[in-house]
This record gives sequence, C-alpha cells and structure tokens, in this order.
Amino acid sequence: MSEHIPCNLSRAPISEATDAPGKSVGSRSPPGPSLFSLVATFTFSPTFRGLGCEGRAWDRGLRPQKLRHKPAGSASRVCDFRSKNKMAFFPLKLPLKTASSFFPSLLTIWIMMASMNCHGMDINSPKATNGAPFPWNKMRLPDYIFPVHYDLMIHANLTTLTFLGTTEIEITVNQPTSFIILHSQNLQITRATLREKSQDSTVEQPVTVLEYPPNEQIAILANKPLLMGHQYIVKIEYSAFLSETFHGFYKSSYRTQKGEVRILASTQFEPTSARMAFPCFDEPAFKAKFSVRIRRDPKHLALSNMPLMKSMNIDEGLIEDYFDVTVKMSTYLVAFIISDFESVSKMTKSGIKVSVYTIPEKINQSGYALDTAVTLLDFYEDYFNIPYPLPKQDLVAIPDFQSGAMENWGLTTYRESGLLYDTEKSSASSRLGITMVIAHELAHQWFGNLVTMEWWNDLWLNEGFAKFMEFVSVNVTHPDLKVEEYFFGKCFQAMEVDALNSSHPVSTPVENPAEIREMFDDVSYEKGACILNMLKDYLNADVFRTGIVQYLRKYSYKNTKNEDLWNTMTNICPTGDIQKTGEFCPRNQPTSSTLHWSQEVVDVKAMMNTWTLQKGFPLVTVTMKGKNVHIKQELYRKGVNHSVETGYLWHIPLSYITSKSDKVEKVLLRTKTDVIILPEEVEWIKFNMGMSGYYIVHYENDGWQSLTGLLKEKHMMFSSNDRASLINNAFQLVSIGKLSIEKALDLSLYLKHETEIMPVFQGLNELIPLYKLMEKRDMVDVETQFKAFLIRLLKNLIDKQTWTDDGSVSQRMLRSQLLLFACMREYQPCVQKAEDYFKKWKESNGNFSLPNDVTSAVFAVGAQTTEGWDFLYRKYQFSLSSTEKNKIELALSFSHDKEKLQWLLEQSFEGNIIKTQEFPTILHYVARNPKGYLLAWKFLKENWNKIIEKFELGSTTVSHMVMGTTNQYSTREQFEEVQEFFSSLKEKGSQLRCVQQALETIKENIRWMNQNFEKIRVWLQKSVTLF
Ligand SMILES: [Zn+2]
Repeated sequence: MSEHIPCNLSRAPISEATDAPGKSVGSRSPPGPSLFSLVATFTFSPTFRGLGCEGRAWDRGLRPQKLRHKPAGSASRVCDFRSKNKMAFFPLKLPLKTASSFFPSLLTIWIMMASMNCHGMDINSPKATNGAPFPWNKMRLPDYIFPVHYDLMIHANLTTLTFLGTTEIEITVNQPTSFIILHSQNLQITRATLREKSQDSTVEQPVTVLEYPPNEQIAILANKPLLMGHQYIVKIEYSAFLSETFHGFYKSSYRTQKGEVRILASTQFEPTSARMAFPCFDEPAFKAKFSVRIRRDPKHLALSNMPLMKSMNIDEGLIEDYFDVTVKMSTYLVAFIISDFESVSKMTKSGIKVSVYTIPEKINQSGYALDTAVTLLDFYEDYFNIPYPLPKQDLVAIPDFQSGAMENWGLTTYRESGLLYDTEKSSASSRLGITMVIAHELAHQWFGNLVTMEWWNDLWLNEGFAKFMEFVSVNVTHPDLKVEEYFFGKCFQAMEVDALNSSHPVSTPVENPAEIREMFDDVSYEKGACILNMLKDYLNADVFRTGIVQYLRKYSYKNTKNEDLWNTMTNICPTGDIQKTGEFCPRNQPTSSTLHWSQEVVDVKAMMNTWTLQKGFPLVTVTMKGKNVHIKQELYRKGVNHSVETGYLWHIPLSYITSKSDKVEKVLLRTKTDVIILPEEVEWIKFNMGMSGYYIVHYENDGWQSLTGLLKEKHMMFSSNDRASLINNAFQLVSIGKLSIEKALDLSLYLKHETEIMPVFQGLNELIPLYKLMEKRDMVDVETQFKAFLIRLLKNLIDKQTWTDDGSVSQRMLRSQLLLFACMREYQPCVQKAEDYFKKWKESNGNFSLPNDVTSAVFAVGAQTTEGWDFLYRKYQFSLSSTEKNKIELALSFSHDKEKLQWLLEQSFEGNIIKTQEFPTILHYVARNPKGYLLAWKFLKENWNKIIEKFELGSTTVSHMVMGTTNQYSTREQFEEVQEFFSSLKEKGSQLRCVQQALETIKENIRWMNQNFEKIRVWLQKSVTLF
C-alpha cells in the first residue's frame, strides 16, 4: 500500500506544524515546507501512515499463542457434557432445503464433541454465534489445511448496495481433522457444502457452519473426518452489504458535472479485509490461484486482477464476466471493481497492456500516469530481470480511497490525486507524487506480490522495499525529478517516531487485525527503506542489486522471513570492477589505510539484525584528539534516562570526509567505541555523508562550532543533503541536551544564504514547530518575534521568487511552499501580490489562469475574507482537479473564523460535497490553525466511535488523526486531558501505539519548552542585531 500523509505529524518535541500543508519529509515534518509534504498534500490526502500502537491486544486476552496451530480442545481438559446440548443450535443459518442433509452434520459434530469431551474440551473454548463451542481459539488459522484454488462469483447490485457471492475453495488437508477454519467477516452465509475432489461424484454434502466474529472466523464442520493428503472442495454461498467504509468490497460514488450521483464498487483488502468479500484463508502465506467471475449490469464494466476472458448474458439485463485464472498469490492482493469508468491503454516493450481507468469526465487527466506506468514497468522488468508475469496492468483512480494506493496484482488502485494529472492545474509536487506512488505500486508487483512476507510482522519486506525502489526507479526513469535529493528526508521522518520509547523494531510480532494495521507505519516504510539504502551503500549498488534479484528469483510465488533476505544477501559475491577502493563488499574487504577493524568477512545478517530486531537508532559521538578520532555509539532516545539503555549495539557503516580530504572514507563500527587514526591532523571532520546511514552524529568539543563556521562562510563545501542533515542533527541533539538551543539556532542562521530546497525545508521543519508550540500557549510576544525572525532569515530567498511556473521541479516546489509560508506569516509584499492575483482570479470567475506554483498562496490569502472563502468553496464543488481541490481545502482551513472551521469539519466528515476521505486531512489542517486546534481536538473526541468505525482502529489514518490533534500540546493540563480521554476509551483506543506516541510527545514537548523557551526568548533579542 502507499501511504497518504497529509502532514507529518510525528515530530517529537515540537512537531510539525505549519501553516502550510505539510507532510513530512524532514524531521519534524513541518507543515508546509516539507517536500514530501508537498507531495502528500497535493497528491494525496492524508492517509497517514504511521505510528502504531503498542498496547496490543494481548492485554485483552488475545495473547499470542505459543501452540499456535492446535485445536481448541487441546488445552485444558474438562468433561463438558453441555456441548452436546448446544449442538441443537448449530445450523441456524442453513436454509430449509438443506435440512434433509442436516443430520449427518449433526452426527459429525456429535462425534467430534464426544471425542473432545472425553479428551476434554477447553474450558475457555470460544462460543460461536449460536452458542455452540467453536472448535478453534487462535487468531491464526491452522496450518494443516491450505487452499489451492478459489473460484469466486460475485454479483453486486449497485442499487440495493448488496452483493451475492459463491466461493468454491479447493483445499489440501495435511492432517486429519473434522473442521475447516476460514476467515469471514460480515458475510451472511446461506449455504455451505463439502465434497472430496478425487471422487468422481460431484455430490455436494451440505455442512454446518459456525461463526466466531471476535476472530473473524467461521468453522466448516465436516460430516466425516477429512483425511490427510486428500483434496476437498468447500463451497459457500453468502450475501452481504457493500461496505460503507474504505475497505472490503466497498461502495464509492462520484457526482457528474451535471449533478448526477453514480455508484461504483471497489475492493481494498490489505491487510485483512478480503474476508469481508469472500470466505477465505486470509493470511499472506496461504497463496492460491483465483478464478473470478463478476455479474454486472450491462451499463457497467468489471475489472479484476486478470484479463477478461469472456462475457455471457445470463439473464435479462445481467452479464457474467469470466476473468482468466491468476498466478499463485495471497488473498490481500485479489481485487475487483464494478464501475462505468473509461480507460486509455498502451503496450510496454515486452507486450504488457497497461491501462489507466478513471471516471469518464477525468479521462483527459490519465495520460501522465499511463506513460509513467509503461516506463516504470519496462524499468522494473529490466532491473529485476524477471518478467512481469501477468498480461496486463490496470491502474484505477477510485473516487473514495483511504490510503494512497494499493498494489493488487494486475489491478492497482489509487486515490484520484495519486494518479490523475491535470496538465493545466496540477503542480510540480503533484507530478512528483504521482510518479512516486506509481513507482511504489509497480515495485510491489515483485516485492510483495511475487515474493510476499510470510506474516505481517515482516511487513517491511514489502513496504520498505517498495519505498526504497521508488527512489531507485524514478532516479533512472525521471532524472529531472531529482528524487535522490529527497531520500534522506524519509530517514528523518522515520526517526521522528523511532526516537520514542513507543517505537518498535522493524520486525515485530503482531497478531490481530488492529495490530497488523499498526504495522503500516513509518518504521515499516521509511526506516525499512533507509536501512536498505544503507545496506546498498555498504555493499555497493551492483552487489546489492544482484542480491535482491537472487532473493526475488529464489522466493518467487513463495513467502519469506527477515532472515531469508539476509541469508541471500550474505551469499552474494561481488565481481570484477565492483571492488573499488573504499567500497565495502561482503567477501573481499576493502583495504583502506584507516580501517583496522573490518578485515573479516562481513556478515550481512549479523549486521542487519542489529537494524531490524532493535528499535531506535544510534547516536554516534565524535571526539577529535590530534590525529585520533574517537567514536562512540549509544542509543538515541527522546525523554529521560537514555543513558541507562546500555544494551543497544549496532553495526554502523560510517562514512566521513575531513578538511584535508574530500574522498569519502568508510568504516564499519561494530563496537561501542573505537578510534580512527587519520594520516594527519584535521580542522574538521564530517560524518554520515549524504545521510546514507540511519544514525545521527554529535561532534564534541568545538566540532559543531567548526562546522557552523564552515556553513556560514562557504556552505557549498557540503552537498545540500549534508547541509540539511547537519541542521537536523543539531536540533535532534538539542532534544536530548547534548547541544544547546542557542548553538542550533546559531547554525540555522546560515540559511540566509541558502537557496536549495532540502536545507530550506529542513530548516523550516525544525523551526516552525517551535512557534507552533507557542501558538498553543499564551506566549504571544516570543511567538511573534520568532515568526519575524524566520521571515528575516528567509527574506532574501522569498524576495527572489518569481510568481511563475518556471524552473526545475525542486525550484517550483520550493517556490510554492515558500510563498505560502511567507503569505501566511503576513509578509506584506507576498500578501499584496497574492491579493491582486486572487482578485483577478475571482473577477474572471476562476477562468484567469494562475501559475500553479503560487496557487496555494493565492487561495490561502483569498480565503481570509468571507467573500473569498465562499467563492473558493463554490469553485471547490465543481472542480475536476484533485490538486486544485486539495489547495482549496488547505486555504479554507486557514480561515480565522471558528464557525467556518467547525463547518468544514462537519461537512468533510459527512461526506456529501467534501468527501469523507478528505476529513483526516482537514482535521489535521484545522488542528494546525491557532484558531482551530481546540475545535479539532473536540471534534475528534466527540466523534471517536464513528471515526474508528469508518477508518478502523489501528489504521495509520486514525493514528495520524490522534497525533495531528495532540502533538503540539506542551502543558501538563493538556497532557492530562489527552491521557484521560484515551484511557476512557478502553479497548476502543487506549491500547493504540499512537496514543502512547502522542502522550510521549506531549511529555517531551513539556520538557523541551521548560528547558529551552527562556533561552529562545533571550536569543531572539540578541539575534535582532544579527540581520
Ligand atoms: Zn506499499
């Protein structure tokens, strides 16, 4: 899946904020400035991904079971004759016509129960909905029955919003048993039968079905024991409502320009919602083939993972589409869509048909995605040297979509803003965002679809790789986007949450659906990608590529664990020209004169286990003593007592340059401390070149002073990534008391000479959150001074911006965010220009063509008057451009009128004009508004139950809403209020990791403000003289 983050909420002490739409890229994810925020903002809305929640269900009695695959009866044994009596209630849902064959079922149950009785029935055996004992008490399914093939028939009625389904599953039994456990959620099962496949007879024996909703499972009770090594076919008929949420088989709709509302139905199964559309073995390791049939109205069009083979008229006004049988795959990748969409198509070099589908009125926005998808599919086939195994790839823009996109095999689905590009109205960041999200979903066709994690604990094997591959592929296919510049921002984003005690290792045990959903966070995606990038840098790109290709080949159509990847990577032998001096490679160690500890064989597994099995990341402290560079590693963690945490140790690939040599030296640190002996004394040393390592660096003694001086005098000495990472690291060190806030602010002063996007964004990422915290307290004087300081700091750069769409993608994104920032900070030259533009645009009834890059600033200024606000909202209702709509949403949320803000929250939650998918973003925007943050928090509290019903407990969306509304609080009272509310939710939220993150963040904010606020006040007074 692809994330959707409106803004990055995570940041710790101060988190985010902005005035702009922020997303996150940088460490704090500030509001407007972050690049990715841009991307997020424009391209997607929020889906935030995010923070998970720890507490977890085992607090509620769902402890992970060690004896995972044992039937319920095998635990504690008591003789329970009551079970016999309960049999009478079993088959409540069977229709009358099956009654005649009902008695054999009863007999089987009785036999089963009798045998359980005397062997003992688990006293805690779960009870099915009809009161009968349910024969399985684990969240995970038994591993001795597995599916081979599914035959699915789905008949959806888009008028009654219901569907009928028939699922026939061919299964293989590896251990004798009397029941089959399947996942099923909210399906009304009307009939179930079982037959043995090998027998000629096609007699279908009706069987009893028990339901156990807490585990989203059903049990099919066989009439006679199922035998080891035999194959059977289970057939289940059922009906259900189309889901009103964003997952399962759900309803979506759109309004045509003429005002007609049209309905469509689409699927979103990852991670655990295939069970809402058909009964199945809904775990990623139960791979099978699928034959899908869809019954539909003649005016509609059906799509599924595979191409359409034939269509038949089966009734008056009813057509049945037959789709080709899929390759072997996991249930969460199955997809089908019934709609009236139109499409455009093109072939790749290898003859794969690529199509983009959208609502008819937006078909002219599909061209960019089509070309991009073809280019990227060609790239991946070449890079992986493994053919894309399906004959087609459809990319579909769904009007209602919670996350950014979904990688269903052969039928990827997207938010409209993540796929549709309006050449007239879309912004540069929108193009970047669309390119990245397509690159992500297509990378999944290999990483995730072809080779899948065995269980959700290793989700990062899907998501970390897909995130990483976005940068690898787009770097080659779209060099003008310069994505390599933005990669390190992902690492800062991950560090935001990974610096908290509530973080988790990349590979983490999870069991129930809410915990599984919590895995879709910055740790799985961003940290996963960052540690892969670090490994690539360590092994070198060619060796790394060879390794991942071997991994993909070896495990095609299979499932993997963490260690399978490392084992494959360890056995890569570099060849030929790979062994350049200074590069690492696994077998042949480099011979840099400075290395005295890395002469042994490199153990990739041992190294990477330190990154995937431990949470958090290291702080590397550097102390220069003559030619000797003393280095020390320790855990970096926000909050107190991090020095107490002594058990952490990483294998850190270090890189550095010095004042005497700009050649990047590399060494592997595997101990707590070590010493690098330089050939001569140097004035300064800079580590973690290009931020390719997932660690931060502290330079002791006068280390920071030297670097700050260098930045101020000749900042171009360092790459823009290195400048950005120095800014980040300095402020990170303030949080743990290693560097004073004055020194960090002093370093930020060099920004008045800065012109590159990433250092500017990183600076804003660090600085904006400071005044955002003040806005939520009574600190007006310092807040005002700080805002004025920021404008002075960036004034030169702001004044240089042209109000055009000229320049490279990064220049355009910088312009867009910088002008928005300046206008929202009421920098008059900006405001006046924006007012003029808005007037022209309004007087032309929206026909005047605004430069895209300045539209956000113009709209935001325009929305400050009631008249302007109302005009923008009218334009919103009829706009066909997602980018334009997103910009208007942002502008409307900047209003100072509390009634309007409240109205926005209500409208977007209700979903008529502003879609509910936009609500999380709008909630976040309003929470960033000094006039709105209390409204947002109140709205979240009052609508909590509905929110988790719609967006699901444990989802990144909910997690971002929690963080977005609370993570800029910094008082004891606010902490207590937040704590009290969430603990009152009990199992409806108190256990979530995001709640721990929110509380930890507020605590950290309190501590941070106590320690630094007064210092900032004094520093600001002094700094006035510095400009
Ligand atoms: Zn993904």
